[in-house]
Amino acid sequence: MKPVVLSSLPYDYDALKPVISGSIMRLHHSQHHANYVKGTNLALAKLEAHKQSQVDLNVREIMRDLSFNYNGHLLHSIFWQNMRPPQAKNGPTDKLLAKIENAFGSLAQFRKLFSQTALSVEGSGWAVLGQNAEGELVVGQLEKHNLMTMVSFTPVLVIDVWEHAYYLDYHNNRQAYIKAWWSVVNWQDVSLRIFGV
Ligand code: MN
Repeated sequence: MKPVVLSSLPYDYDALKPVISGSIMRLHHSQHHANYVKGTNLALAKLEAHKQSQVDLNVREIMRDLSFNYNGHLLHSIFWQNMRPPQAKNGPTDKLLAKIENAFGSLAQFRKLFSQTALSVEGSGWAVLGQNAEGELVVGQLEKHNLMTMVSFTPVLVIDVWEHAYYLDYHNNRQAYIKAWWSVVNWQDVSLRIFGV
């Protein structure tokens, strides 16, 4: 596997204000996400060394580091794309709306389920809307980044509820962060991930 790179955000650090401050975005992207990229490449370098020679690896440690950092990198990459500057009127396109209604009853019911999933993450983690191999939408929860199986579904909409994602702005009020976050959801990006358009 090739080393991964930290892509720049598709908007300025200040673009999601007042929902998410520039300070959070800058720290989150340039420090936290950058560390997951670094951690991924460190683990990959160890595997590369193993490929070249008979070096003994602490496999348990490398598999933990790789899944934690690589999934952290993937999830953050999706998370940045899943957002855009706040919109007064914000919602999915008709095609996506129909798919959400079919899977969850209504957009309101989906938002409630997804919000409660994010709210009930114990400690650090994510709520995820994913698409399984059958093309069905599913909502799930990830602890930290790494207790996940990318084989079972592809994340299409994710929210980071680690404290580093909201504490500077919302302190311990995760609920207020989740509520405000809906206004920066980039539904076009979600649609692109599901339908390719
Ligand atoms: Mn994060």
